[in-house]
Amino acid sequence: MAEPYDIIIAGGGPVGAALALGLRDSGHSVALLEARPRGAGLDDARTIALSWGSRLILERLGVWPALAQATAIQRITVSQQHGFGRVELSAREAGVPALGFVATYTALQRALTAALERSAVQVMAGCAARAVSGDRDGAMVSVDCGDVQRQFAARLLAVADGGANLNLTHIKTCDYRQAALVCDVATDEAHQNRAFERFTPEGPLALLPTARGWSLVWTTAPDRARELAGLDDAEFCGRLHAAFGATLGSFRAHGRRQVFPLVLKYATRSVAPRTVLIGNAAQTLHPVAGQGFNLGLRDAWELAHAIMEHGASDPGSSALLDAYFSQRRFDRTATILFTDSLIRLFSKDIPLFNPVRGGGLAALGGIPPAKNFLVRRMLFGARG
Ligand SMILES: Cc1cc2nc3c(=O)[nH]c(=O)nc-3n(C[C@H](O)[C@H](O)[C@H](O)COP(=O)(O)OP(=O)(O)OC[C@H]3O[C@@H](n4cnc5c(N)ncnc54)[C@H](O)[C@@H]3O)c2cc1C
Repeated sequence: MAEPYDIIIAGGGPVGAALALGLRDSGHSVALLEARPRGAGLDDARTIALSWGSRLILERLGVWPALAQATAIQRITVSQQHGFGRVELSAREAGVPALGFVATYTALQRALTAALERSAVQVMAGCAARAVSGDRDGAMVSVDCGDVQRQFAARLLAVADGGANLNLTHIKTCDYRQAALVCDVATDEAHQNRAFERFTPEGPLALLPTARGWSLVWTTAPDRARELAGLDDAEFCGRLHAAFGATLGSFRAHGRRQVFPLVLKYATRSVAPRTVLIGNAAQTLHPVAGQGFNLGLRDAWELAHAIMEHGASDPGSSALLDAYFSQRRFDRTATILFTDSLIRLFSKDIPLFNPVRGGGLAALGGIPPAKNFLVRRMLFGARG
């Protein structure tokens, strides 16, 4: 016999957890299935640059106070290796207290999970959804909870499995043939709440300010990322210095290095009746410009909002889901195109293109409406 709920969320990462929190006062019965067992440590070295818009959503979810340690970004410098032109974005110019905030993935997850534990949402840790299906009457989920197999029925199933993809179709994939190497580094110069994004022919290299110094996200070919991850600290820092330049003095490496494969994946349409994909399950983006979680959080917030507005009525009705999909279409499509275009334009080593790209960066810095467009996008996403 299937256990019935109004809403089941498959995946308790930051996006699934945010949706569950957004629904805690909805009056609907909500269950969150998370494959990781309760209390299992997170093996994730990622830091997440949270936009100003994400901070506002996290405040409304009551999670922001637990992220008080997040480091504010006051200025961002965008430049390119082997080329002229740079753009400087600043919070002061944008008229906001900060352009964004840097938190570790682990701290973000911990803050959301702690808030969920104080809510009435039923969290089933150590329960992995194995198969999902939906028809006009309801959605079904088969779940492995350790040695026990369980079946759940719901009026709405939200898939937030980070793109593990269960048995879903209609997903388009584009392999960037890049991987992101992530680790902590320190420099002679203090970060002063600055962030850097430097485009190199192999991929973008980002430095985000943290309480420990900097979080490095170095995108390059997968083989090279693995090679860099295995170098001793001195050799690694020398290579980083060669790629980033001397702006911050010399680098010191600390902590372990972790490598993430990078693909663009997105669902082309709704996958089944009464089923909705959110966060990385709906679209997995390149980390350039730090848009993935920020976009996923907007998915979660807007879906929770749409359900709350419908009150006690059916949360999985086609009218509600159609309205949600069309409301999200512009933000999703524009953000996917924005990040994908940055990679295609700036990560190709075609010498003739370098002056054009440099000119583009210089123009972006010098034309206020263009710069304003970029800043609004970083702060609030495509609808900002
Ligand atoms: C190197 C790197 C840097 C990044 N930097 C940024 C940044 O600066 N800013 C930004 O906005 N984004 C950034 N991102 C993107 C961001 O990490 C993701 O967009 C975000 O983690 C997506 O959250 P999610 O909850 O959708 O998926 P995930 O974080 O992948 O969480 C999915 C959850 O689902 C669970 N799960 C999986 N399968 C199942 C199942 N079958 N049943 C139940 N549970 C399941 C998993 O255990 C996990 O807890 C970065 C990504 C990378 C790789």
